[in-house]
Amino acid sequence: MNKSYCPSLTAYERRKTRVVNIGGLPMGGDYPIRVQSMTTVETMDTMGSVEQCIRMIEAGCEYIRITAPSIKEAENLKNIKEELSKRGYNVPLIADIHFTPNAAEVAARIVEKVRVNPGNYADKKKFQVIEYDDASYQAELDRIRERFVPLVLICKEHGTAMRIGTNHGSLSDRILSRYGDTPLGMVESALEFLRICEDEGYYDIVISMKASNTQVMVQAYRLLVQKLEEEGMQPYPLHLGVTEAGEAEDGRIKSAVGIGTLLEDGLGDTVRVSLTEAPEAEAPVAKALIDRYEHRAEKATPMKPVCNVPINPFQYHRRETAEVGNLGETNVPRVVADLSRLTELQYADLKCVGHLYSMLLDKFNMNDQGADFIYTGDTPISFMLPNGLKEIVNYDAWLTAEERKDRHPLLHAEQYLKSVDRHDTLNFIQLSISDLTNELLERLKQDATAVLMLQTSNAHAMPELRKCFFRLMNNGVQTPCIIKRAYGQLTPDEIQLYASTDVGGLLIDGLGDGVMLGTELLPEQEKGEWLETIGQYNSLSFGILQAARTRMSKTEYISCPSCGRTLFDLQETTAMIRKRTDHLKGVKIGIMGCIVNGPGEMADADYGYVGVGKDKIALYRGQTVIKKAVPADRAVDELIELIREDDKWIEPVRLED
Ligand code: SF4
Repeated sequence: MNKSYCPSLTAYERRKTRVVNIGGLPMGGDYPIRVQSMTTVETMDTMGSVEQCIRMIEAGCEYIRITAPSIKEAENLKNIKEELSKRGYNVPLIADIHFTPNAAEVAARIVEKVRVNPGNYADKKKFQVIEYDDASYQAELDRIRERFVPLVLICKEHGTAMRIGTNHGSLSDRILSRYGDTPLGMVESALEFLRICEDEGYYDIVISMKASNTQVMVQAYRLLVQKLEEEGMQPYPLHLGVTEAGEAEDGRIKSAVGIGTLLEDGLGDTVRVSLTEAPEAEAPVAKALIDRYEHRAEKATPMKPVCNVPINPFQYHRRETAEVGNLGETNVPRVVADLSRLTELQYADLKCVGHLYSMLLDKFNMNDQGADFIYTGDTPISFMLPNGLKEIVNYDAWLTAEERKDRHPLLHAEQYLKSVDRHDTLNFIQLSISDLTNELLERLKQDATAVLMLQTSNAHAMPELRKCFFRLMNNGVQTPCIIKRAYGQLTPDEIQLYASTDVGGLLIDGLGDGVMLGTELLPEQEKGEWLETIGQYNSLSFGILQAARTRMSKTEYISCPSCGRTLFDLQETTAMIRKRTDHLKGVKIGIMGCIVNGPGEMADADYGYVGVGKDKIALYRGQTVIKKAVPADRAVDELIELIREDDKWIEPVRLED
């Protein structure tokens, strides 16, 4: 299997791409990875659009995309452009096109770049399964060519760039019938359009492969790079993004898991983070993700290249491991909360890791984000832990502890190799890549009680940890592994994005049976602050597992970022829906601003809440519309009714504390 989807799996090296000039601000090649975003104001509101563009530019946006649903909006891009220029802003503009080739042809003469969605440029979505034989498939391609070539020629003539932007949720019936909604289908969807461009000698192209499912998104980008090479096509620059990532913490974590995973491998020339928030909130997140790679190559500790890649980077498959306690094999990845910086822990302190003590009832309740293990370092906890929660302590502390059966030791590699006194069923071994000697690997193969805690101090962290996994796999070691990362003097926002990238990038490839975000590098703080930090780390750990689709602990919201087509206040509506449904663990709810793209883009949501007109909402079960025009003030109740009909509704419970 050819796995060359990136320049290197061990050294940081950016993929060499073709330079595409976009209104004097080139992308690709050695140019910096660019930040971009999209306006949400109606395109016909010229002044509103201009004001929003300026706020976005000031927040760090280098390109701005504006929707052009019809010819009149496409024409108004000229007014927006002129007004921006009058005010001294010459940011390249991108017209966003769905379904309307005529609007694209107008826009391509005005703005610097046009984005087309190959799933709907010349197709109307019918959600029909049509059988295509080779002749009817070819006839469809000929029809597309005829519809698409005029735009290509206009772009060529005017020096306008183009993004061929595939979305997982809006693949054409033609592609779906032949490839299904797979990464390969996404790639083929773009290639069909690319071949037409290349036939016309047009190469000013950027490509994206967006999905709200981070595994699908990562696999599709990787496969695209491989297919471009295979077909001898140009190394087009990549526009990275996770669609409908949502808002706040969830949206940031999900974006970092998807985008960060690709950036780690040197893929990506521009980034758009899609949050259900004001567009000016997106640029700083994109920038923080990108900035991490500015000096990565110089800061990284060199590693030898990987000779044998034991995973398939284009398909999710969890690494095969033995079951040790409740870790590995088919167990969900576990969360270890690091409480080692706290002394004299009380019952109530466990609240920050999801275990709530009720004084009244004298018992513990666990919420959906209850940690599975707590690590207490050298000071074992002095009380009995609630059911299910287990403790990890440092080996020396474990040796001298009175009660050893209910807690588990953490050993360093050297201690592990020398030790004779260990726990009967579960021992944790903390190690780095240099500890993975042949002697240790052989020992691990014989040990049914070992779980590794893999860590690294390499600035190129994810690839080094990945290499540890490869070494284990290539040597037939099936010991479960917890991914451990610790961060020092960073802001909480940076830690959120970096941990999501480092841990998520491994989980996406099926590597990792747990996560621990260590606190040892953080500066000293008061107990209350520690509890807050540990609570954030706990929620972040669960968030990463969910974003990588490896453990569901909360409701998943697939909400669009909104744009000029949006028919209701996305942020307000998402908050309202979230308030009523955020206890429905594992249920996926799509919240989409418009009917044109919404149903397609919420691809794998269980339910959909989609704007269809002023104060009118359509409700979906999967991809099927169930209620076509519910008044907005009744829509959330009716959505809940729909969930109830499917027996997926549970009443919210407030846990005692
Ligand atoms: S789904 Fe949302 S972001 Fe996409 S076109 Fe509709 S309103 Fe705009």
